[in-house]
Amino acid sequence: MTTTSQLHIALLAFPFGSHAAPLLTLVQKLSPFLPSNTIFSFFNTSQSNTSIFSKGPKPNNLKIYNVWDGVREGNDTPFGREAIDLFIQSTPINFVKSMKDAEEETGVKFSCIFSDAFLWFSCELAEKINVPWIAFWTAGSCSLSIHLYTDLIRSNDETLSRIPGFLSSLRISDMPPEVVAENLEGPMPSMLYNMALNLHKASGVVLNSFEELDSIINKDIKTKLQKVLNIGPLVLQSSKKIHSDANSDESGCIKWLENQKEKSVVYLSFGTVLTLPPNEIVSIAEALEAKRVPFIWSLRDNGVKILPKGFLERTKEFGKIVSWAPQLEIFENSAVGVFVTHCGWNSILEGISYGVPMICRPFFGDQKLNSRMVESVWQIGLQIEGGSFTKNGTISTLDKFFNEEKGNVLRQNVEGLKEKALEAVRPDNGSSTENFKALVELVKCHK
Ligand code: UDP
Repeated sequence: MTTTSQLHIALLAFPFGSHAAPLLTLVQKLSPFLPSNTIFSFFNTSQSNTSIFSKGPKPNNLKIYNVWDGVREGNDTPFGREAIDLFIQSTPINFVKSMKDAEEETGVKFSCIFSDAFLWFSCELAEKINVPWIAFWTAGSCSLSIHLYTDLIRSNDETLSRIPGFLSSLRISDMPPEVVAENLEGPMPSMLYNMALNLHKASGVVLNSFEELDSIINKDIKTKLQKVLNIGPLVLQSSKKIHSDANSDESGCIKWLENQKEKSVVYLSFGTVLTLPPNEIVSIAEALEAKRVPFIWSLRDNGVKILPKGFLERTKEFGKIVSWAPQLEIFENSAVGVFVTHCGWNSILEGISYGVPMICRPFFGDQKLNSRMVESVWQIGLQIEGGSFTKNGTISTLDKFFNEEKGNVLRQNVEGLKEKALEAVRPDNGSSTENFKALVELVKCHK
């Protein structure tokens, strides 16, 4: 039996980097505002599902489906770009198949398709079954804007200064590589280009950010899309339960921070995907050791192996290396003075939400653009001297934070943005709160 009155929301996740987990966080936030019999079906690869659902209990009304990752049986598990390309090539058929299973098992037709914005084909799937498509852009409005200007950017370098909201600071080298790729036919560039072409068809585009962070950019993208809903920062609204590491402190970081001086600690983390080049790991280690600055470094085992001989022993009095750090709880601690980051969007937004200034070493995707925003537009951090980690460049950039007036200015600026972020999530009239209410209405609506 099928029914149309019950809400059944198809959630289509992009299973790489920090894309799928924020979609889950969003579901957890939406769920209490929807009728109690609402069903969420979560479509994601088995590997990504295992990773995000191993961290805590899953909501009762959420059904999890594993979609095919594009790897043929008997083939080796691919990594990095190869895994992403295989997955993209297997879409949309892999999703369509699992979505059919979900409708059959639940007996309830989908009322809405809520997908990662990358999965632009959701637009066609939604049109076919006559339900709204809501797209979740897991990064900032700055990078969304750049994608929407892909054609213009590709037509002429000079146009960069005409894109609203970037204070003429943009360089071609800041662009996400897919936007300026030689041709747009590869799986990733073509997916992002199609996304840019189709996003105006979405009933709503949801962002994990807040309007006041980039008000000019938001004003501009609102002229291009139907409904732009900044509902973040999600980390400032999630209950502690959603933070998987809350209250556990398995790594001992929080206890360790209690013995450190106010704003004295360097926290280094480069996200969930990136492996730093070995020479840069060594340079960071040499700089930290030479400066004897207290540090927490989230570094996986393959990175630890590259550290200079005896480093752990020689720095154990003032430093701590962990394979996974409770980042939000670390940011909540006033001992943290600066965040050394690869500029993934979640990290940037978390730094802003907790008022932590940054040192940026971006690598790919939207990271260079985010880094440009941090240094030139928001002025809440610095790019690493020389563009990559060297011993002297790292020491010199750290000195700017700890020994020069510049550090205080950057800190004040990020505190200012933190206040704006807190305003945005105010329960009475914050802009993100209002946008969230609009999102609830959108999800509830049957076409
Ligand atoms: N993170 C964490 N502990 C770590 C490393 C990362 O909690 O040791 C979290 C961090 O708080 C952020 C996410 O992992 O929410 C990384 O997301 P981001 O978008 O910055 O980078 P990506 O992993 O997508 O490159």
